[in-house]
This record gives sequence, C-alpha cells and structure tokens, in this order.
Amino acid sequence: MSAAFEMPGPLCGPGNPDYQVKLFAHLFNTIAPKQAVMVRPQSGVTVQRIKGYHAHVYYDASTMEQARELCEEAARLFPVTMGRMHQKPVGPHPDWSCQLAFGPEVVGVVLPWLALYRKGLVVFMHPETGDELADHRDHAIWMGAVRPLDLSIFGG
Ligand code: ZN
Repeated sequence: MSAAFEMPGPLCGPGNPDYQVKLFAHLFNTIAPKQAVMVRPQSGVTVQRIKGYHAHVYYDASTMEQARELCEEAARLFPVTMGRMHQKPVGPHPDWSCQLAFGPEVVGVVLPWLALYRKGLVVFMHPETGDELADHRDHAIWMGAVRPLDLSIFGG
C-alpha cells in the first residue's frame, strides 16, 4: 500500500500515462475500504447507505467555458460521469449547471480536487441516499456560496 499520493491537477492526464494506474491503485487500496458511510435518517426507521454523489457545477454565460473545462478535466481524471452543459436552470438548480456523478469510493479525491480547482465557481454537492429532499436540503455540501434551490419538486 502506497502512503504517498499526489493530488491530480490540470497537468495530469495524457502526458502522465502512469497517472490512472496510480490513482486506481490508491483508491482501491486505501479509500474504498473506508467508505462504509452510513446515514441515520431522523426517523430512525431505516439506515441508508450513500449510493453515490452528484457535484453540480454552477456558471453563467461568462463562466461557462471555465466550467466546461473543469467538468471535462474531472471526467478525464476520475471515474466521473459528466452531464450536459445546461444553459438554463434545470430541476432544483437556480443557475445554469453541469452535473458530475460518481461513486462514494472516489468522493475523497473528487471533493478536494473540486475545492482546489473550482476557481470561484459555485459547486453544489450532495449524496444520493434515496431521499431526494433530504439529500438536497439537509445533506448539501456547498462550495463558494449557498444558492437557493427550488425544493418544491421534491415536496419541500
Ligand atoms: Zn443532483
């Protein structure tokens, strides 16, 4: 098990062919076994496991290309699925946004990477436990600012 691991940056990618191998070795040897994150809902009736995460990168016309580069780089570096670059508010989101979806085993590298490279963009991150209202309202992880979500679509 390797103790040292360099966080990926914008220069990591095709020019660094060892990168993906090292990243996956690191993830599966050190991070995945620790991701037994459990959520106890207030009801106490069931215990829900976090199935995955979304990171919604917010932008406007003036920051759209910056956001596209950030999302494409995330999808290149990590096992992250990039959604569409919306040019209108969609779902509960008050601003234009692009969704990054990923599994709980990589949250420990994707979250700090976004924190380092979002460069002023607002990022709204939330877990997926099966309770959409709670995930967007109570479990929200905001970077940069807290924006007002339209929670009415989840019954909020
Ligand atoms: Zn989402």
